[in-house]
Amino acid sequence: MYQETIYNEAIARIQARRLHAQRVQEQRTERIYAEIPETAEIDRQMRSACLALFRALPKEDHAERVKKIEGNCQAADAMMRNLLTQHGYPADYLDVQYHCPICNDTGFTGGRPCACLKREIGIVGAEHLNAQSQLALCSFESFSLSYYRDLPPDKYQIMERIYQQCRNYAAQFQPGKSGNLLMIGNTGLGKTHLSLSIAAVLLQKGYSVIYDSVGALIHKLEQEHFGKKSDSDTLSMLLECDLLILDDFGTEFDTSFSRSVIYTIFNSRINACKPMIVNTNLSKSDLQEQYGNRILSRLFSACIMQFFGRDIRMQKSLR
Ligand SMILES: [Zn+2]
Repeated sequence: MYQETIYNEAIARIQARRLHAQRVQEQRTERIYAEIPETAEIDRQMRSACLALFRALPKEDHAERVKKIEGNCQAADAMMRNLLTQHGYPADYLDVQYHCPICNDTGFTGGRPCACLKREIGIVGAEHLNAQSQLALCSFESFSLSYYRDLPPDKYQIMERIYQQCRNYAAQFQPGKSGNLLMIGNTGLGKTHLSLSIAAVLLQKGYSVIYDSVGALIHKLEQEHFGKKSDSDTLSMLLECDLLILDDFGTEFDTSFSRSVIYTIFNSRINACKPMIVNTNLSKSDLQEQYGNRILSRLFSACIMQFFGRDIRMQKSLR
């Protein structure tokens, strides 16, 4: 994954929005000209006024001329808006409706990248990182509580509650405000399925979400850190995205590099109030033993979900 590819793709998407907004405006103009013929005449007058304005600039008494022409333009504009409302259209019906009113879908404002461009870079980056996950296969609708039916009632209720909590988390998600989730439990109990279901909902809402196993991410970061791919920037994407989902926490190779990466990610994201979902097969005490309090203390303030049940993949293969 290369930063330049992501940047170019984000720019292309914003330009496509601009073209779309302009095309919509052209279609509307055509329709309004046909329906209210006076508008075409007003537009023609405004255009020739613009031309006159341009020609007046070099003239000696231009200030006065410009003032007069500007007055005419304003009057024509008001007439146009009046006609539109009289025919049941909003007054700004013929203005180009840009997706981002700050930069008019150029991606830049005052020579700097607009917030919409930064946002798009996050989304494209997340899509690249997520390309290999089973994201498309998981949704709340495809999650079945029937696999937990054998559980004692109290455990079943816990699973039911976890499912509902995850749905609520996705529905009420706010970047910079939502809390962290720590999903604990053996393999095959639905942790990945539920966290990917949350991801699917948020991606659809336009948030940037990155999902991967801790081991795979550390491998990528190691390659970037020690290798030659210096234009990759996975770490800053992991720190910046709206939601980071770390799967299989505790199964990565334990090295000083992996520890410092995990510490950096946890600390930076928690300090910046950027939510995370962390999934692990280890128990709370195993985690404590493996990582120590320096890394974990703040993660344990997350909402902890203890999963119960029998391996769903096993159950499916037996059905
Ligand atoms: Zn913008």
